[in-house]
Amino acid sequence: MHRRPTPFPIPTKGNDVIVQKLTLPTEAIISVTNRCDARCSMCNIWQLEPQEYLSAEDYHRNLPKTLRNVNLTGGEALLRPDIVEVTQAIYEASGQPRIILATNGFRTAKTVQTVKRILQLVPTLGIAVSLDGSEEQHDRMRGVPRAYARATETIRALQSLGLRDIRIGFTATKENVEHLVSTYEYAKSLNVEFTATVAQNSEIYYSTVENAAIDPEAIEREFGRLIEERLHSRSPKDWIRSYFDSGVIHFAKTGARMTGCDAAAGFFYLAPSGDIYPCLTVPSSLGNIRTQSFTDLWTSYRAALIRQEASRCQKCWMMCTSRTEIKRNPLRAARWLLREQGKFIFKGRTHSLTPSSSKQPPTL
Ligand code: SF4
Ligand code: SF4
Repeated sequence: MHRRPTPFPIPTKGNDVIVQKLTLPTEAIISVTNRCDARCSMCNIWQLEPQEYLSAEDYHRNLPKTLRNVNLTGGEALLRPDIVEVTQAIYEASGQPRIILATNGFRTAKTVQTVKRILQLVPTLGIAVSLDGSEEQHDRMRGVPRAYARATETIRALQSLGLRDIRIGFTATKENVEHLVSTYEYAKSLNVEFTATVAQNSEIYYSTVENAAIDPEAIEREFGRLIEERLHSRSPKDWIRSYFDSGVIHFAKTGARMTGCDAAAGFFYLAPSGDIYPCLTVPSSLGNIRTQSFTDLWTSYRAALIRQEASRCQKCWMMCTSRTEIKRNPLRAARWLLREQGKFIFKGRTHSLTPSSSKQPPTL
């Protein structure tokens, strides 16, 4: 359930205060290293100089206890020698959230060994392995020989470990958008989840502004096909993700988000250095958690201004920046789903809204 925002007086630089409805965040994207062994065409993180990163102890001391979902990423997070301790610290400090650790899946044996150790400490762990199309396409985009073979081997090895929360993460660019549906089908054949996002430009995260926009018609066609496939499935998660996918089309066609953005309110991005940003894209830092407490940063005048700015921002539509808003408006998503399902029924299609398995409430 979403917490009710509390009116919160925030001091300005003079004697005035501004009052802003404030909640502590429930979601975070936490990057723990810039190191990466991939050479991806849509991301230059791997070119960044190494820096001093937050330690497990820093995470333990400085995270808010209100998080429910954490995207743990890098660079390649599994390259950190202390990734087990870091993941445990994040889990314990932030209220035992669900943690999805993103990996390129290049190092199968090491990944399995590390995931095994993390799972003993962090039972909510899930793994997202990047896969961007056919073998040839994926290897070209990731810039490393046998990238596809290694990633798919890692997925199967994680399955053998008994890990159930595994997903394939697809990053759409101009080059691979036509591989979207076949990669979804591949995920289905492996019985793993599938999420898709569009490659973004960001100086503070991907370290590139050179990703070309995908033709909106191609987005509409390919994400439209994906939505259709998802709505045909018997998975409630797929239905909810199809709503997110419809936001990708909406954004490509109109340049506007389907919902508002609550960056620096519902979620934040924490860089490996300790700088907190509203999201992966906006380069305005709230400050650094090495030198100030999270609460001081979150309730500062600077954070209030950044939050205000973000609430009007229309620069992106990504799952990690839309989830809190989608959860805040579940009826809107439900209406959309009913309408889309109705279209299928009208066309004579026979898929059912009855889930094949509904023991758990669906999460995005
Ligand atoms: S997209 Fe991911 S795997 Fe590729 S270089 Fe960037 S951080 Fe590494
Ligand atoms: S819409 Fe703007 S503030 Fe919100 S996540 Fe995207 S870039 Fe960040």
